[in-house]
Amino acid sequence: MRILVTGGAGFLGSHLIDRLMTEGNEVLCLDNFYTGHKRNILKWIGNPYFELIRHDITEPIRLEADQIYHLACPASPVHYQFNPVKTIKTNVMGTLNMLGLAKRVKARFLLASTSEVYGDPDVHPQPEEYRGNVNCIGLRSCYDEGKRVAETLAFDYHRQNNVDIRVMRIFNTYGPRMLKNDGRVVSNFIIQALEGEPLTVYGDGSQTRSFCYASDLIKGMILLMNGDHVGPINIGNPGEYTILELAQTIQKMINPNAEVSFKPLPDDDPKQRQPDISRAQNLLGWEPTISLEEGLKLTIADFRERYQAQT
Ligand code: NAD
Ligand code: UDP
Repeated sequence: MRILVTGGAGFLGSHLIDRLMTEGNEVLCLDNFYTGHKRNILKWIGNPYFELIRHDITEPIRLEADQIYHLACPASPVHYQFNPVKTIKTNVMGTLNMLGLAKRVKARFLLASTSEVYGDPDVHPQPEEYRGNVNCIGLRSCYDEGKRVAETLAFDYHRQNNVDIRVMRIFNTYGPRMLKNDGRVVSNFIIQALEGEPLTVYGDGSQTRSFCYASDLIKGMILLMNGDHVGPINIGNPGEYTILELAQTIQKMINPNAEVSFKPLPDDDPKQRQPDISRAQNLLGWEPTISLEEGLKLTIADFRERYQAQT
């Protein structure tokens, strides 16, 4: 099968490509390298079944593919808020272009949506039926509302043009290859602890998140793409932790003497987040298998290797 992965040089995209290539597919990786890096897909460059295309999805492109995994979009608040207008363009114009492509070549299209469509949720845990509590004029809205429109576009192309879609709502995912300057909480805490810097907890650290290890997530993504259910389907790890608990866990694992410093809580930071994964369990037979401690151990080892290689 020929498979297009947009955002393929990014954190999740490159893990997905590893799986798709190993399974014997032909893969087209499309990326503008905003937060992605050639290093992530270096091992496939030169392989005749792999093609790397530098392209910005806000511009149309003509390609042939049987399936499209649409991941291109910065995922860390630091990066998606750096140029919010560009984030909206990527989510709206970019998704429109990729859905247009799927329609033209009759490819199955999977949208990497997000738990951010639920905003700062007042239903807990979040099932797919929950319609969310999003501030449409806040700092996060370029991403949250962008992804909500991306979902709308996917469903409208499905209803109007029979595009075969799959919609996946990804909850916080972490793992090897996250960038040192990614800005998300797991990578920040690991780098800070390794460098002997204080771990920066925003607010009082009582806000919660549920952290899924990358390989678990990728398994769910591939099952959704190749199954019969359109979605939306939540994919995430239901284990819920406060951010302070996460800081303390990483502190214990890397450097028990590392300090914790409290910084202001960013605007509209969701207070709690935990996926209801009943649909994924019942419809895909999927659930995560890697515990937070196990996943952190593997992620820390990867950061140590890259960090120590640099110094
Ligand atoms: P990432 O930032 O590592 O990857 C995004 C990739 O998209 C990068 O390689 C980047 O260069 C590329 N990209 C961005 N804008 C582009 C554009 N206009 N044209 C072409 N390429 C572009 O992030 P990630 O964590 O791998 O996330 C991948 C997808 O999963 C994103 O769509 C994100 O919204 C979604 N997601 C991720 C998480 C998570 O916790 N990792 C949670 C929810 C949703
Ligand atoms: N966070 C933190 N310290 C950091 C980075 C993030 O306390 O150095 C908090 C952030 O305020 C949020 C949570 O950790 O409450 C998860 O942040 P992240 O950016 O990883 O993802 P998101 O907020 O999009 O879920």
